[in-house]
Amino acid sequence: MTLPGQIINAAGTLTRLSAGPLAPGVLQAMEAADAASVDMVHYHAHAGARIAAATGAESGLATSGASAGLLLAAAACLARDDFARMNALPRTGDLREIVIARSHRNGYDHALRMAGARLVEVGLPEPAAGAGVRDVEPWEYAAAIGPRSAAVAFTATRANAAQLPEIAAAAHAAGVPVIVDAAAELPPAANLRRFIADGADLVTFSGGKVLGGPAGTGLLAGRRDLIASAALQSLDLDVRLADFAPVPDFIDMTRFAGLPRHGVGRAAKLGKHEIAGLLAALDHFLAEGDAARHARWLGVVSDLAGTLPKARAAILHGSDTNRIPLLMLGFADADAAQAADRQMRARPVPVHLGTDPGDPAALLVNPVCLRAGDQAALAEALNAVL
Ligand SMILES: *Cc1c(COP(=O)(O)O)cnc(C)c1O
Repeated sequence: MTLPGQIINAAGTLTRLSAGPLAPGVLQAMEAADAASVDMVHYHAHAGARIAAATGAESGLATSGASAGLLLAAAACLARDDFARMNALPRTGDLREIVIARSHRNGYDHALRMAGARLVEVGLPEPAAGAGVRDVEPWEYAAAIGPRSAAVAFTATRANAAQLPEIAAAAHAAGVPVIVDAAAELPPAANLRRFIADGADLVTFSGGKVLGGPAGTGLLAGRRDLIASAALQSLDLDVRLADFAPVPDFIDMTRFAGLPRHGVGRAAKLGKHEIAGLLAALDHFLAEGDAARHARWLGVVSDLAGTLPKARAAILHGSDTNRIPLLMLGFADADAAQAADRQMRARPVPVHLGTDPGDPAALLVNPVCLRAGDQAALAEALNAVL
């Protein structure tokens, strides 16, 4: 069977290419979740406890993606325990600023702004400009934090993650929580715990990338009070206060004197099927482990490399189980690489390859989204174009 718009995805877990394949067990878990109706508050509490256990955080919330996680994290930091403020978002009161390094800004910061936050930039990405060696420093956050600061936002990468503890310390010294976007920071599995351990008050991961959950899922983990606020701003709250009885571990209602109307997160709703799929993916991700996952992916790129001219293909991260092994295809120059990329996408079943902004004369094969049936067709396409 061919799907409308079907492609061979050798580019990785990109949303525009329908994200990653579902982990084993995910579809079955989604089907099992269909067998009965549930009270979504209790189902969410169950998912939150599983996310907390997997991340080492106090609490957790299943979301409709990491971007939704950022929206909910921002909403939680802007409104805290104040249900009138929850109700008013995205109109904020004085507490409205999120401090973020210029070099951490990206298209997903729209999710923070959607909650009502105004972004206050710090740092200067001088390495990007070729003008210096420094990007952003903890004192710059400390200097920018004031009475209007609701949070610090940190977009985690392999390169900057070591800075989080001292930046979190600067934020906490001023009483401000830290939101970490770690959407694509898996593998390694240890990163599920790392950012919380390093001081994040809230961290979000994508469920549809390497985790292997449905494309429209994500994890939010962090402080119990902030997760409760995020949950209150995303759950369906068409219920009388007296009838709303979540488990206190998830939402401690003694902290709240009322219930907001549906919050800014209600537009990022997540159904039970997706939650069931996300939890099954999380279980599989933890059970498989980095080494076995890496070996499975390495098998795919090694088999493919064996079908290609030796001088044109090299395996990257072949012995680093913290990373996804990739097959790098070398071209004479950037124009040749771009032409090959276009030819691959013009094939009867289009082939999408990865690119590396740091090396425009290369194309990359990322094994994560390749299905067993793709490998022969991909080898044939690559040999035709190389
Ligand atoms: C993929 C990604 C997101 C969005 O994740 P979704 O689960 O697709 O919403 C956010 N931030 C970063 C850095 C990402 O790579």
